[in-house]
Amino acid sequence: MAEPQGVSVSETPPPVLDRSFVQEYARLDAGVPWNRQTRLYVDGVLVEWVPGLAIALSLDAQGRPVADEFLLLHCDNDWNSVGVIVVTSVDEAKRVAEHRYPGSGGLWLDAGYDTSHVAQHFEDAYGSLRCSFCRRSPYEFRRSVQGRGAVICDDCLGRLAAELAQEAEDA
Ligand SMILES: [Zn+2]
Repeated sequence: MAEPQGVSVSETPPPVLDRSFVQEYARLDAGVPWNRQTRLYVDGVLVEWVPGLAIALSLDAQGRPVADEFLLLHCDNDWNSVGVIVVTSVDEAKRVAEHRYPGSGGLWLDAGYDTSHVAQHFEDAYGSLRCSFCRRSPYEFRRSVQGRGAVICDDCLGRLAAELAQEAEDA
């Protein structure tokens, strides 16, 4: 996807971060400190000040929203998630964010994404891995065989094998 001229790639987060659907985001600046009394550890490492926060709705393996499960994502300059807090609503995410980063409350912006952006993201991520025969995505089958630009899933392979066996029997 081409980025618009003159716009920083990392100014806004992508529609999907850490398998979750981005609703709102905040760019923190030096005027928004980290509250040292709050603690978030990822793999034993303390997550301190971050330049970006995002509130996102969890998605299941099929890319469908998980009701009442929101993530407060702590992000680096390129919107890579470096730490996540699970909450039950956007408001709770903002309260937690305000406690951790006092002053962040006035910085939230609507990401402006809808489910079509999520669908496009999954298509971009997995489209080339769809089964060439039944068009299902990799998260909809267990295994696949790939070769010469084609992908065939285990279900289609099974059907093909059964058809071949039937033809051999009929012959
Ligand atoms: Zn298939």
